[in-house]
Amino acid sequence: MTQRMKLWNFFQMESQSLKPAFGPAVHVDQMGDAPSVIVVCEHASNRVPAHLDGLGLKDETLTRHIAWDPGALPVAQGLSQQLGAVLVHGGISRLVYDCNRPPDAPDAIPERSEVFEIPGNTALSDAARDARIAQVYRPFSSMLTEQIGVHRAHLRMMVTVHSFTPIFRDQMRAVQIGILHGDDDRLAQAMMQSIPADLDMNVQLNEPYSAADGVAHTLNRHAVPYGLPNVMIEIRNDLIESTAQQANIAQVLAHWVTTAEAAMSERNNM
Ligand SMILES: [Zn+2]
Repeated sequence: MTQRMKLWNFFQMESQSLKPAFGPAVHVDQMGDAPSVIVVCEHASNRVPAHLDGLGLKDETLTRHIAWDPGALPVAQGLSQQLGAVLVHGGISRLVYDCNRPPDAPDAIPERSEVFEIPGNTALSDAARDARIAQVYRPFSSMLTEQIGVHRAHLRMMVTVHSFTPIFRDQMRAVQIGILHGDDDRLAQAMMQSIPADLDMNVQLNEPYSAADGVAHTLNRHAVPYGLPNVMIEIRNDLIESTAQQANIAQVLAHWVTTAEAAMSERNNM
């Protein structure tokens, strides 16, 4: 090995140790040739990169809803398949960085989530915070921008898929599915109208959260500037535990989304 190569290898090793490997922060699955829908699942994964040492939490804690949205990814995949959509999903736990929050949001890297302190997030140095933004948020956000650019000609809407815990601070939540909107409420309103009146399910607008809780970041940042109708769907996670439940909910949602889209384009053509 020449002296120069040795030096090069040394620098490579150095730069790798200075920039710890977060692994993939974002994944893209394209389910159709010319997708008319972009589906986004920010909280798909509970993976914590090895160098962050589980953020000081027990493995069991990292399987809980504070680390990710259990069941959301299989539902997002099923929905995307039904719609022939392009799906963009996160590859890192929201406790490392919540990709549905801008870098200046206090809960983008939460020091506390529900009743849990997150030791690995307390007293973070500026450099550690910048690394999370650069290695998790930026690649996720850039991929969304890229995919919207690539599919701009045929995209008609954005749908984000999330799940929430049935019991929050000891209270049982009655709402089963939440239809949420940000600055543009067209698709959310059309979906609420497309839901059959005799449906045996508790579906609510802007429940159990709303834009006031800061959850509309992806919608407002990535769909609204393009005039792309958009909606955030929150599913109570006890309804999407089994593969059969996930497939069933995906089918129900696909029907609501397509019915709402048809109603909206009919209105536009009148
Ligand atoms: Zn979520």
